[in-house]
Amino acid sequence: MRGLFRVFHWGPLTAICIIKWISLVTLYCNLRWYPPSNSLGGLAYTVAFLVLSGMTLYHFLFAMYDGPGYLPLAWKPDKATDEVLYQLQYCHSCQGYKAPRAHHCRKCNRCVMKMDHHCPWINNCVGHFNHGHFTAFLASAVTGCLLSCVSLTCSLYYGLNRNWYEFYGTGKEPKIVFTVWSLIATLLGLGLSIGVVIAVGLLLFFQLRAIMRNQTGIEDWILEKAVYRHRHQEHKFVYPYNLGRWRNLRQVLTWSCLPKGDGIEWDVVEGADQYTLTREQLLQKADKRDRSREYEIIREYSGACFPITQGFSVCIRPPCTDEPRIPLNKGDIVIVTRWKKYWLYGDKVVHTKQARVRGWFPRHCAVEAYSQHNEEETDNFTESYDSGASVSRADISATKNTSVKNNTHHRSSVARNQRAKETNESTKNLESKKKK
Ligand SMILES: [Zn+2]
Ligand SMILES: [Zn+2]
Repeated sequence: MRGLFRVFHWGPLTAICIIKWISLVTLYCNLRWYPPSNSLGGLAYTVAFLVLSGMTLYHFLFAMYDGPGYLPLAWKPDKATDEVLYQLQYCHSCQGYKAPRAHHCRKCNRCVMKMDHHCPWINNCVGHFNHGHFTAFLASAVTGCLLSCVSLTCSLYYGLNRNWYEFYGTGKEPKIVFTVWSLIATLLGLGLSIGVVIAVGLLLFFQLRAIMRNQTGIEDWILEKAVYRHRHQEHKFVYPYNLGRWRNLRQVLTWSCLPKGDGIEWDVVEGADQYTLTREQLLQKADKRDRSREYEIIREYSGACFPITQGFSVCIRPPCTDEPRIPLNKGDIVIVTRWKKYWLYGDKVVHTKQARVRGWFPRHCAVEAYSQHNEEETDNFTESYDSGASVSRADISATKNTSVKNNTHHRSSVARNQRAKETNESTKNLESKKKK
């Protein structure tokens, strides 16, 4: 039942209105331009259009209702040995492990099997179980709208040139009379149809390409980073799910529109295993943690999307994404992981029991905590070590931890410091082994 309530949202309601509008206007014009009662061609044309219009609505509703398939909350694999769990990502929101190819959707607030993207038009995620219906919806919408474009354009042509055809025509041309309202409705219908053909057509192209590669939009990013990470290594990263074009297609596009597989275990290519991609994701996350920097907020920010009070440049160059903006107060600490010229993206440091607060904020509201405390830290460092030797970032963080009283704000420094210690220890171990 929950799936049905998803229709009460601007996305599905707008989509249904567009489908209905185009269908009714096209039917109205078809009856005048190519009447089904006059010829077999006319009948075939109208029936074909009605079938496509019906299929569009049917696949749309099923893609919305079926949903992508969510992992159960607190999910664990059946054979949850330490070795397996060690290779999986953990979702703090769902309090469970993420199966291979599953990702957490912020809008659905659940981990989604083989998540592709969250689609506002179906107010649901596109993933493992509704990928077939979603692709069929796109295909029938584009084909239906192509027929609609032909029918509406011809009707407008004959309707607007009616006087000319009355005098110079053969008398066999369709006689179409537009009132002001039917003309506006037809023009709007034509505009919508052209829009659908272009926008949905592009989406269909990308979806078919993704299905043929067996690679979702999210996996495109992961693979791009994996290839870059392995660029200097002898063994290049092998994407585990690309089984060849036809096998990939057959996994998603079936007559019942239901996919093969349970959305947890996947067929993989030779040389890969169930956890090849999850291990790579964990390593990419570790890299990201290493790149992260700590920023202190020096100027309040309301969380507005276009914060006019933060200056013109900030306001006209917002990050082009639907990711959240986070309100911040002076003194807050944010662990930044992405940088744009006027905006930063990061995790606000909160008390352990609070939910994660993550998003964008204007760059000039913050200073990098490292550079702000640089002088003080270097002083502390030289005092305690009494030498001018080079200062590593981990050392500075360690010094900072002792000099800053409120250490809840310095979670990342502690973590970084911990990592530095671990790295040092492992390097020492390796070195001692070498000596032996
Ligand atoms: Zn989750
Ligand atoms: Zn979602």
